[in-house]
Amino acid sequence: MSNKGIFNTFLSEDGFVRLIFAETTGIVREAVEIHRPSKTVTAALGRCLTAASIMGKMMKTDGGSITLRFAGDGPAGGFVCIADCGGNVRGCCDNPAAELPPNALGKLDVGGVIGRNGDLYVVRDYGFGEPYVGHSKLVSGEVAEDITNYYAVSEQTPTVCALGVRVGRDGSVSGAGGFFLQLMPGADEALIERLQANLDAMGSLSQLIAEGRKGPEIAGLVFGSLPFKLIEEAEMRYLCSCGREKYRRALISLGPGELAEMRDSGEAAEIICRFCNTRYVFSAEELGQLHDEAAAELTRPQETQ
Ligand SMILES: [Zn+2]
Repeated sequence: MSNKGIFNTFLSEDGFVRLIFAETTGIVREAVEIHRPSKTVTAALGRCLTAASIMGKMMKTDGGSITLRFAGDGPAGGFVCIADCGGNVRGCCDNPAAELPPNALGKLDVGGVIGRNGDLYVVRDYGFGEPYVGHSKLVSGEVAEDITNYYAVSEQTPTVCALGVRVGRDGSVSGAGGFFLQLMPGADEALIERLQANLDAMGSLSQLIAEGRKGPEIAGLVFGSLPFKLIEEAEMRYLCSCGREKYRRALISLGPGELAEMRDSGEAAEIICRFCNTRYVFSAEELGQLHDEAAAELTRPQETQ
């Protein structure tokens, strides 16, 4: 099964409107394979992954990554999605099995499973220096509204976020994607009203994607009669950056005391990556080696930062 998605950036000919679009059906399906979430968590996690993948691509910094964390009071617990500017995204939540009855509109209650009260954190790591941390309060837990609000209170560029994940009765994902619509400084009020009318008329984004509409067609609905051009197309994918070495380093950082206890228990240590379910096993013998490395690091002179 494909774990891929497509990323497009469109710009109006006059330069005032930017539309950053992602089709993420394959990415959300891969997340469903890994996490086996409930239907409502599929929609919630899919929206978070889509938003993170777009924000990662928007960073435009080699080696940069973005972490989107929804800390709401819903039964699914916290959601964490991490994406980089190369189009790689991964994500998880505390309790993928959490489920709720449909909301008052008969839709999957995404705001309910994430929680309507809580915080949204956006961490941009440029690969150098201190990461930049942005924050806003959740407004509905429906993800797109929360991100639109985040941009209104924490970022320079006014941004409208739309996200959609179509989940079938059997839990399968038939379409997923989203876009960020941004107005550049100097855009006039009439333009904003035109775009708003276009958004109101376009219908369900996830349905359009499930019907097979591609980025340029969806951009056509958003821009309406406003001329626009495609300025970027790229592939995205669900991809975890974990590896044995990462967890080896994490174990060493526990220090020689704890590692000695683990070694002496005679049992192997098992670590399962929460983003991709890859299982890493370290035998008691390896734990002994890690202990020796940790002890040697302690006696080594401290490096200056
Ligand atoms: Zn992993």
